[in-house]
Amino acid sequence: MVAQRSHNDRCATTGRCAAGAAGDTMRGMSLTTAGKAPGPVRFYLACDRMGCRERVSFDLVIAEEPPDRETDLFGYLLHEAGKAAPYIRDRGWVFIEGGEGYWCPKCSTPASRAPSADRL
Ligand SMILES: [Zn+2]
Repeated sequence: MVAQRSHNDRCATTGRCAAGAAGDTMRGMSLTTAGKAPGPVRFYLACDRMGCRERVSFDLVIAEEPPDRETDLFGYLLHEAGKAAPYIRDRGWVFIEGGEGYWCPKCSTPASRAPSADRL
C-alpha cells in the first residue's frame, strides 16, 4: 500500500510514466497501468463512484504485444486494460458505461447503495 501511494504521487508529479500517459488520453477512467506488454504489468483500479475510496492493485503478466502505436494508438493504449478486463470482472468490479469508469463490488451492488448518496 505504501509503495502504491508513492508510485501514484510520482506519476502525478512528473506525468511521465505509462500510467500518466494513459490517464491523459483516457480521462475519467479509473484503471491505470504501470509497465508495458509484453511482460508484467501492474494495474491500479480505483472506484469512480462519488465518495468511494475503494482501490485495488494487482499484477498480470501479459504475453501478447500491443498493436503498433502509429497505426492503432487507441488499441495500443487500451491493450493492457483489455487484457485485464476479464480479471477485473471476475473480482466483482463493474464498468459503468458513459465514462464513469469502474465501480467496486460494493458500489455496483444495488442493495448497498444509500439513497442519499445517489442524489449528490
Ligand atoms: Zn466503490
